[in-house]
Amino acid sequence: MEYLPTKPRIVIDVAESVRASTADERERDATAELAPYRWQELLRAAVRDSRQLLARVGLSSQWLPGAEAGSGEFSVFAPEAYIAKMKFGDPYDPLLLQVLPRQEELEESPGFVRDPVGDAAAKLGPGLLHKYAGRALLVTTGACAIHCRYCFRRHYPYSESPRSAAAWEPALAQIAADSSIREVILSGGDPLTLVDATLAEIVERIAAIPSVVRLRVHTRLPIVIPERVTDELLAWLRGTRLAPIMVVHANHPQELDAHVLQSLGKLVDAGVPVLNQAVLLRGINDSVATLVELCERLINARVLPYYLHQLDRVAGAAHFEVPIERGRELVAQLRSHLPGYAMPQYVVEQAGEGSKSLLM
Ligand SMILES: *Cc1c(COP(=O)(O)O)cnc(C)c1O
Ligand code: SF4
Repeated sequence: MEYLPTKPRIVIDVAESVRASTADERERDATAELAPYRWQELLRAAVRDSRQLLARVGLSSQWLPGAEAGSGEFSVFAPEAYIAKMKFGDPYDPLLLQVLPRQEELEESPGFVRDPVGDAAAKLGPGLLHKYAGRALLVTTGACAIHCRYCFRRHYPYSESPRSAAAWEPALAQIAADSSIREVILSGGDPLTLVDATLAEIVERIAAIPSVVRLRVHTRLPIVIPERVTDELLAWLRGTRLAPIMVVHANHPQELDAHVLQSLGKLVDAGVPVLNQAVLLRGINDSVATLVELCERLINARVLPYYLHQLDRVAGAAHFEVPIERGRELVAQLRSHLPGYAMPQYVVEQAGEGSKSLLM
């Protein structure tokens, strides 16, 4: 896409030609190779259909038609460890609501579109998005370890992303050619669905670009499959000359069980600053008590609440939206319960803007 807004926007979509065009292919991407690691086995064993998911949480087939209708374009995908944290028999469990498709996903809502954050316009080349000054985002893979129904990338054309490390060369060359890029963000999909050997290789290539000084990893994997925090992962994070930052994604305190907290602790112990971003979601975390507990659990685990995102207005996710006015009320109340350092910034991403916009 040649169009570049006035403010530089770089998102590097490494995975584009790599990316698979259908959800099925996407899943295969993540699990195609031999799965010598425990986390890969867990990924491979993830629940991939509505019937199985409902059975697993003890819900009747009353919910099935809606779930099957809703899953048409974006399939069900939920690892066992995530399902195990759901309350059995509760159709409104806050974790289940994040992964169980619903009839509402087919409804059209005014203002809800396929590319709400302007990724197409920000694309510099396969695998590379440049949206924000100083930061380039590399889309390393289309695969995720969970399919979040509210995801703004649910319609993203992942099939265009590169597949091999060599295929990332053009994106890396573009980063090298722009010395204003100081930070590279590995995103996706979820970059941690790639094996550590591949990630270590990408990171080494990025570190070979003298103008880049920071490496950020955006991932939900430590939350959904805590086994993903392997010694190999910690080794490449520790070993690079780049300053590492990890941004994880938990929306509800129930996602943060002892196993997850232990994995987050390993990252922090390795010297990696860990931040959390959450999405404000109707019926899931739109209460003061829930947000306070989420932020407290995070901070007690030495993870800083970073962003609370207003939902991106992606087609199929309108039923998750909390009005901004309500969001502002919640955040104002949050402030009276939490220390200042535990307050997430309430933000929204607007296509074409040079940064996320503060809503408070
Ligand atoms: C959110 C985002 C970033 C990073 O923004 P921060 O405010 O630094 O967290 C970078 N690139 C893209 C495309 C983004 O959406
Ligand atoms: S929110 Fe993150 S983990 Fe969930 S489907 Fe979207 S990209 Fe994947």
